[in-house]
Amino acid sequence: MTATLEENSTLGILSDLIAFDTTSFRSNMSLIDYVVSYLDRDNIQVEVIKNAEGTKANLFATIGESQNPGIILSGHTDVVPVEGQNWATDPFKLRIEDNKAFGRGTCDMKGFIASVLAAVPKMAQENLACPVHIALSYDEEVGCVGVRHLIDFLKHKNLEVEACIIGEPSSLKPVTSHTGKHVFRCAFQGTAMHSSLAPGGVNAISYAAGILSEINYLEKIAESYVIDDTRFEYPHPTINIGKITGGKAVNIVAEHCQFDVECRYPPGSSPTFFTDALPGIVKTMAHEPMYLKSPAAYASCEQVTEYPAFEGDFNSPAAQLVRRLTGSNGDYAVNYGTEAGLFQTSGYSSVVCGPGDINQAHQPDEFIELSQLSACDKMMDTLIREFSLEEVSA
Ligand SMILES: [Zn+2]
Repeated sequence: MTATLEENSTLGILSDLIAFDTTSFRSNMSLIDYVVSYLDRDNIQVEVIKNAEGTKANLFATIGESQNPGIILSGHTDVVPVEGQNWATDPFKLRIEDNKAFGRGTCDMKGFIASVLAAVPKMAQENLACPVHIALSYDEEVGCVGVRHLIDFLKHKNLEVEACIIGEPSSLKPVTSHTGKHVFRCAFQGTAMHSSLAPGGVNAISYAAGILSEINYLEKIAESYVIDDTRFEYPHPTINIGKITGGKAVNIVAEHCQFDVECRYPPGSSPTFFTDALPGIVKTMAHEPMYLKSPAAYASCEQVTEYPAFEGDFNSPAAQLVRRLTGSNGDYAVNYGTEAGLFQTSGYSSVVCGPGDINQAHQPDEFIELSQLSACDKMMDTLIREFSLEEVSA
């Protein structure tokens, strides 16, 4: 396969998209502006929905005049950080090698967005039987933040939708089910003291350790909530304590400690054994005894983010559409999360199907196979054919 970075080709657009550093803690406005002016060439109707601060935006575009329920092609514009990762080359400069395109976001998920945008001029030329909507969100990687405003916006418009394709990397397999997630931050404020006088201080790490061991116990409990779905690698809720900080030196009673913990759960199971329990455990096992020792000491437990599990349906309009477009008859479930659960629970028939392998997402030297990009281009061509009125009547 010869790689071409030709303007307006999928790879050409991907190269442009990768060059925008849209790490979630930065603004995505430059990418949004780029897409607005790209779509403007075909006179596509575009709406930009900014966040309250005006620093980030969702984008919603509609191709076609038809009043029939439409198809949403959905993607997130943000990427995960490259900090602390060892990249062979600049993560924000597309590199083609070994039939792969390397760069932050190639797989997750600017490859899909590039393929969709490359198909826009063709879509614009057709007389489509139903409108094709492009929905781009911000801050997916930090808890599906932007898409919630985007969905509110769609609800407000009373948009009628036949199917919503979330183009997250699934190796173009139709995914109709994935886990939901709740993330909590537990913070412990003790009182510092020279360690030789340790009993007189309140050690934040010691109290945090007590909570961590309770969480380890809950992790065992989680394994007993097994659902009857063999598609999941782990068909039960899972818990991960992903980050911890605290303390200054071994000879100081630790004043601070903080950790982040998540609970993921497949549809059909409930996270409440964890989400309902954790704040109470922190209160009774840390906050109350800490406060008793010193009114300056306390412990807190806050939910930082959450998104729902996605429970689609093999026979839903979205899953049927993607099976027709890809020729894949499978019905897959994955342990990672996407915006699909939010679309689905808002009443939009959804399916996850996009190019690239999730194993390459979030990694240093993230890449997407060029064959996955061309397969996605083919999926877009099939979508255009499927909804082209000329083809239907021929
Ligand atoms: Zn993603």
